[in-house]
Amino acid sequence: MKKVAVIGAGTMGNGIAHTFAQSGFKVHLVDINETSLHSGIETITKNLDRLIAKEKITETIKSQTLANIRTFTTIKEGVENTDLVVEAATENLDLKLKIFKTLNDVCSKSTILATNTSSISITQIAAATSRPEKVIGMHFMNPVPIMKLVEIIRGYNTSEAVTKTIMKLSKTLEKDPVEVNDYPGFVANRILMPMINESIETLYNGVAGVYEIDTVMKLGMAHPMGPLQLADFIGLDVCLSILNVMYDGFKNPKYAPCPLLVNMVQAGKLGVKSGEGFYDYSKSRKAEKVSKQFLK
Ligand code: NAD
Repeated sequence: MKKVAVIGAGTMGNGIAHTFAQSGFKVHLVDINETSLHSGIETITKNLDRLIAKEKITETIKSQTLANIRTFTTIKEGVENTDLVVEAATENLDLKLKIFKTLNDVCSKSTILATNTSSISITQIAAATSRPEKVIGMHFMNPVPIMKLVEIIRGYNTSEAVTKTIMKLSKTLEKDPVEVNDYPGFVANRILMPMINESIETLYNGVAGVYEIDTVMKLGMAHPMGPLQLADFIGLDVCLSILNVMYDGFKNPKYAPCPLLVNMVQAGKLGVKSGEGFYDYSKSRKAEKVSKQFLK
C-alpha cells in the first residue's frame, strides 16, 4: 500500500492523515469544507512543530510529512488510484451510508474501505457497498499521532485477508492494533461510555462534585484524566450518540444516557469544542474551573 485517502479533515481526519503521511504514505485528504481542510493542515503543522520541540522528529521529517499530503474537496478526485480509504467524516449514519455508496462507485475494485466510526455498525456501512468483504473498522483514538491503539473491527462479512492486511498496516504506522467483532460500541466505547455515564449519574445524584469525581478516578484509579473531563474532550454530543447506539442496539436500560447528559447537550454545552461542558474552556483547552451549577 502506498496511497491512502482520508475522508474528513476534522479532529480525527487530520490526525489520521498526519500519521499516514509521517510513515511515508501519499495521503489525499478530502473534505467538502475548504475551511476544515485549511485548519486540518494548520493543526498537522502545529502538531509536527510540537514533535520537533520534543526532539521526536526533525525539520526534514516535518517537510516530508507535509509534502506527502494533498487536499481535495471531492471524493471522486481524492480517491483516484488509492489503495485504502479511511473515512473519518461526521458521525451520522445517513452520511456514512451515502459516502460508502459513493466510494463503492468511484474507487477501484481492489481498494479497501475503512471507517473510523466510534459506534455505527460496520456491517450496516458495508451493506451500502457491493464489496462488504473489503469494508472494515479502523478506529483510531484521539489524539491520533500520539495514541497507540487502533481498534480493528471486523464486520460480519469482512474477509480474513483484509483483516490481516489492515492489522499489518497498522503496525507499519507504529500502532498497536487489536481485532474485535462488530457489536454496538465495539470494545473501547462499550466499556468507556458506561463509566462516563455512571460518573455523570453520580454527579446528577449529588453524590459528589465534578472535581471530586474526577479526582477519585485520577488519584484512586491512576487514570490520566477524570471521566468528566474526558467526556468534555470527546464531546458530550458524541458521548450521548454512542450511548444511544448501545441503548438501541442492546435494548438494555444499563446504557440509557443520564438525563443530565441529555440536558447539557440540548443546552449546547458540548465540552471543549463549545467552550464549556463539565469544565470551563472559554479561555483555553485547559480545564480552568468547575462550572458553578455543579457546585451547588
Ligand atoms: P469532526 O466534526 O471534527 O470532523 C468531521 C469532518 O467531516 C468535518 O470537517 C466535515 O466537514 C467533514 N465532512 C462531513 N461530510 C463530509 C463529506 N460528505 N465528505 C467529506 N468530508 C465531510 O469529527 P471527528 O471528531 O473528527 O469525527 C470523525 C469520525 O471519527 C466520526 O465517525 C467519529 O465518531 C470518529 N471518532 C471520533 C473520535 C473523537 O474523539 N472525536 C474518536 C474516535 C473516532
